[in-house]
Amino acid sequence: MRLPMSQSIAPVTPVTRASFYRLVYPARVLGMALAGLAVGSVLFEQGGGAWLWALLVSTFLFWPHLAYLHARYSPDRYAAEKRNLLIDSLFVGVWIPLMHFNLLASAVLAIVTTFDKVYTLIRRLWLHALIVLISAAALVGLLVRPTMQLHSPILVELCVLPLVFVYTWVNTYRGARLMRTIARQNWQLTELRRTDSQTGLQSRDHWIERAIQSLQTMQSGGSPATLLLIDIDHFKSVNDSCGHTVGDEVISAVGAVILASVRSEDSAGRYGGDEFAVIVSQADAESARAIAERMCAQIEQLRFASAPQLRLSSSIGLAVAQPGHADLRAWINAADHALYRAKHLGRNQVADVADA
Ligand code: GH3
Ligand code: MG
Repeated sequence: MRLPMSQSIAPVTPVTRASFYRLVYPARVLGMALAGLAVGSVLFEQGGGAWLWALLVSTFLFWPHLAYLHARYSPDRYAAEKRNLLIDSLFVGVWIPLMHFNLLASAVLAIVTTFDKVYTLIRRLWLHALIVLISAAALVGLLVRPTMQLHSPILVELCVLPLVFVYTWVNTYRGARLMRTIARQNWQLTELRRTDSQTGLQSRDHWIERAIQSLQTMQSGGSPATLLLIDIDHFKSVNDSCGHTVGDEVISAVGAVILASVRSEDSAGRYGGDEFAVIVSQADAESARAIAERMCAQIEQLRFASAPQLRLSSSIGLAVAQPGHADLRAWINAADHALYRAKHLGRNQVADVADA
């Protein structure tokens, strides 16, 4: 499967350091609202005073917007957002003793707010956040000296559930999306590595892998295979007389001729510069020669709008895989000898190593 030349790795929406706060904002609004619901249920059960309710509204409803504005108008938005993330943990630390250490709500809030920092990919932020959280909880605990009320009534359990559910769902979804993106990009990278972007033919490395397989298949009693080495004649003078951009066009056009001449079971690659290599599988010398002659004729027919006077020709060396070829290098050497003969005999022709 080929990637069109224009297609590259699918871009991932860039999250720059300066726009990081915008990414955090909706997550903070939602997370804080759900945390507020959990804390509110504890306050309701414990009969918290008016100032606690005021603090709850400030923390869980106003703070996310304040945090956004703080980062937005800071000269260093990234540093401001990092501070905001620590302040989130500070608030949770403050609320744990204010909730009389309600075990369920305290544990869920502490876990969510700490593990959330891991997803920011900021090194050790979670650790700093945890230290801030524990310090705040200890300090407020010492000041307020609340009585421990670890037990959670059913209302608190119900109000903590949305936070657990949404947090788990959002992070599972994020993880799955990330895995899909990585899998797609891995596939695209493999395709890019396998493809010569200028011609759409196989890259040299990928072609070599396929050629080794073909030789091994033939040598273990499989079908015959013939190697064609195709080289554009006097290509250097095309560059010199018409310029490198026309030279590039020529390479692409010759690549297209080769690609159109082979079958899906054949392997066509750009071997390097103006040289191409094709493994014609399940073909003896005669049928491979017919394919090579056709390629030569079609390359001769190529015309270029940017250089109307330009005429091309090519030389092709042909070598049938032999049981005696020790390795791919031996097979390529045989085709290279044939190519040399084609050049030596006046170019614009196909030569078989067996003709020598
Ligand atoms: P021959 O008939 O013996 O093959 O001669 P030639 O001029 O074709 O061979 P030579 O190997 O001397 O020249 C090949 C040139 O192709 C040299 C290099 O600068 C040029 N070349 C290699 N790759 C590219 C490319 O992608 N684009 C362009 N424009 N030129 C390339
Ligand atoms: Mg050449």
